[in-house]
Amino acid sequence: MKYWFQCNDCGKVFRENFLYLCPDCSAGNSPSLPPTGVLKTLYDYDLIRGAAHPANLFDELYLQKFLPLLPVQHIESFGPLRVGNTPLVEVAGLVDNRRLRVLVKDDSQNPTFSFKDRASVLVSAWAAENNITTLVAASTGNAGSSLAGICASNAQNSVILAPASAPPAKLLQMMMYGARTVLVDGTYDDAFDLSITLTQRLGWFNRNTAFNPFTIEGKKTVAFEIFRQTCGAMPDFIFVPVGDGVILSGLYKGLEDLLMLGILRRMPVVVAVQSKQSDNLVRNHGQPTFVSRQSTTLADSISVDIPRNFHMASAFLTRYNGATISVDDQDIVFAARRLAACSGVFTEPAGAAAVAGFLKWSENQKGTAAANVVILATGSGLKDVATPLINFPFPQPVQPHPDAVIEFLKRN
Ligand SMILES: [Zn+2]
Repeated sequence: MKYWFQCNDCGKVFRENFLYLCPDCSAGNSPSLPPTGVLKTLYDYDLIRGAAHPANLFDELYLQKFLPLLPVQHIESFGPLRVGNTPLVEVAGLVDNRRLRVLVKDDSQNPTFSFKDRASVLVSAWAAENNITTLVAASTGNAGSSLAGICASNAQNSVILAPASAPPAKLLQMMMYGARTVLVDGTYDDAFDLSITLTQRLGWFNRNTAFNPFTIEGKKTVAFEIFRQTCGAMPDFIFVPVGDGVILSGLYKGLEDLLMLGILRRMPVVVAVQSKQSDNLVRNHGQPTFVSRQSTTLADSISVDIPRNFHMASAFLTRYNGATISVDDQDIVFAARRLAACSGVFTEPAGAAAVAGFLKWSENQKGTAAANVVILATGSGLKDVATPLINFPFPQPVQPHPDAVIEFLKRN
């Protein structure tokens, strides 16, 4: 077997083709608490290391789309869309501190315009190799539109359960990609639990974040790309927007794979950023008991009451000395505009949360040592135009006359 699973909570190993959660730990799960029993996918790192000269190992992995470190057998299973290999853009004017070199990983440039394509494409590829034709996901919007698009490209059917309040652009994407789109009159958490019940009843393959361990494996490819794009000089800090904690865990898992292979020598400081209006992961990290607060953030992609990968994300943060920051929604909106105006990268509110976290952190870095920083921008700003328009409304129209335009420009 190329891969196997290990429970994040009890450590038990499962040598099976596929499993959603550790049966022992998940038996006591309750809808009001983050699930236990989320699985890590592991590989024979000695075998992978021995298969190539260490100096070439990473290039070879990259050329094969990291295939030795993914739970699929054939590159062809991924389908024709190009996922990943997104730009790492240097942003000079974000802060007035020359000691900080800032790079933005622009994952809006994935096929469906979000980071979620990394997970969807892997789940879809595995399903293709196992003759599964219908995939389902609960989603705040991005995961669903991503799965719908990836399935459309890979001759598969998709069923998406999304809260009715999801941004219209994301819902429209799902429908245009041909997904059977179900609007749930409830929260994301309601849609999540509903999709699991339907999976058990109808036998679909479920892409729910963390519930399907391969979502973590797909998302880890961002770590490999950052390593390659910085020529191995990994950043000192990586800022990550957090909802369920799966992007955070995926990034850490990729970095951990590189540690296991002896390719990475030093773990960067990963900074988990949440909105104060949806801070159930950072607020409960390190606490003896989990207490959920209702999420009201305008950053819909990270609006989560019960973080589905809380335990793994929290364990990673503890093991590798990660940090946490929470920011105001208002700061998220202004961070989105600031990034867009000084870089040309227009990210949605969730991605802007990581930018806001970086800006808050940078205020305490004046006079400190130089640092390289990467910020994950996880989705396109065009996926949710209603939110920034609240703060940045369109200007009033002017008469079609040069004097009127000149007068307008004087006032704006
Ligand atoms: Zn377990």
